[in-house]
Amino acid sequence: MAQVKDYSVEEKLSSLVKLQKVDSKLDGIKILKGELPIEVSDLEDEIEGLNARQNRIEEEMNGIQQFIEDKKTLIKDAQELLKKYEKQSENVKNNREFEAINKEIEMQGLEIQLAEKHIKDATLEIAEKGRQLEIAKKAVATKEGNLKGKKGELEKIIGETEKEEKQFKKLEEDAREGVDERLLVSYDRIRNNYRNGLAVVPVERDSCGGCYNAIPPQKQSEIKQRKKIIVCENCGRIMVDDELNDAVEVK
Ligand SMILES: [Zn+2]
Repeated sequence: MAQVKDYSVEEKLSSLVKLQKVDSKLDGIKILKGELPIEVSDLEDEIEGLNARQNRIEEEMNGIQQFIEDKKTLIKDAQELLKKYEKQSENVKNNREFEAINKEIEMQGLEIQLAEKHIKDATLEIAEKGRQLEIAKKAVATKEGNLKGKKGELEKIIGETEKEEKQFKKLEEDAREGVDERLLVSYDRIRNNYRNGLAVVPVERDSCGGCYNAIPPQKQSEIKQRKKIIVCENCGRIMVDDELNDAVEVK
């Protein structure tokens, strides 16, 4: 066991404030980095989804186009047959043959009409798919622009914070050495209880800087004396006077 120096309450409070400020800086970096990677990967997923949608629409359009080509071939064949039957009808030998050929001519005419209707409908469908494709393409372009921005932002933050983070980690180690074990346990416990990670707060405008509960004048003067560790009755955070709080700077 290392020999623990006997720190005064004021020194302990000062170390706690320093530790809090360093930890808040580290929290800030974590938040900055924590959000952007998620945003970047979400955007990448969305773009992948939109690209898959584009491919699907294009495949559907190709399918419809093929359908139209098939119908065009069908019309051509039917027209060939029509020509053949019309020629045959000039040389019919009897009434029955005439009727049979006429029926074929009528059938082919109907086939052509039906195929033309199919082509008309399919053409409308292709135009609609084309509009959907344009919308998907625009969405991809927008998302890609966003992604580029977010990625740049993230890289910039990582570049900027790497050095800072290392420096703050070192400061954090130093600050923890200035606080005794028992106090550190409380500090960590309080910090973990609050989403904003604040365990040590200044008195601000006669209130606790953590929960804004009013602090009576008697208690405020006790805090100012720095003779004992005082916690907020409402939220349990360790309170310091604003002068002590302001005196500790972390850069
Ligand atoms: Zn409080």
